[in-house]
Amino acid sequence: MSRKTIKKETQIEGIGLHTGNKSKAIFHPAKGTGIRFTGPGFNTPVRAVLKNVSGTVRGTNISDGIHTIHTVEHLLSAAAALGIDDLDIEIIGEEPPICDGSSKPFADILIAAGFEETAGMPDIKRIKKKTEVNFGEVYYKAVPAEKGFSVSLVYENSHPMAGRLLIDKEINPSSFIKEIAPARTFGYDFELEMLRKAGLAKGGSLKNALVITQKEILADGGLRFPDEIARHKLLDFIGDLALLGWRPEGVRIETIRCGHASNVKFARMLEQATE
Ligand SMILES: [Zn+2]
Repeated sequence: MSRKTIKKETQIEGIGLHTGNKSKAIFHPAKGTGIRFTGPGFNTPVRAVLKNVSGTVRGTNISDGIHTIHTVEHLLSAAAALGIDDLDIEIIGEEPPICDGSSKPFADILIAAGFEETAGMPDIKRIKKKTEVNFGEVYYKAVPAEKGFSVSLVYENSHPMAGRLLIDKEINPSSFIKEIAPARTFGYDFELEMLRKAGLAKGGSLKNALVITQKEILADGGLRFPDEIARHKLLDFIGDLALLGWRPEGVRIETIRCGHASNVKFARMLEQATE
């Protein structure tokens, strides 16, 4: 058993989803420090862990009280699903580039950088206790399993173009790359104006999001999967769980209607289920 980081520095540029401003993410190899964010003016990097979560509206933000990095979940999803233990992510701008709205561009450049094993035990913990919780309409259950990490996720929305979608996957690097990472973020057309008024989604467009109207799902190049929306919810869930600072092993998780705020609350409960 050894820890995993990337072999060499790599970077990706684009615009931030919520700010609409230019941004860049530079990934640096690291040793024994977990996944951290840094940027211009940071005295010390901010660890991507639950206690640093500062916001969960339309994305997950982390902060050390001085510096805030918005919308970390797509990038963390790729890093966690690829089994990376140590990585310093330098963000030039307030949020990582949204790219095409999925995790694929991040997964692709991390894979292209290559991986390196370093000394030390990887950040993996076994789930030992069943955990079940409802937060209003949102449901989670984690049950210990012999091995692996699987998730069954139901996306439900009364909107005519959504309905009920179920996705059930074993989470590992190859399933993530092929079946989860390419799923893009999405929004409902009626929400867009509201989001913009709230100062969010300024960089959002069909280049980086699916837009759901009353009649159709607008998607650049067409949908990548018939259930792309549910797959993206799973991608977000994996990204939010990455804030545990360790990867769950020996667990099956079921969730209905999950979102960033409840994901973070559930992750805090999961922390208690490891001993
Ligand atoms: Zn997302």
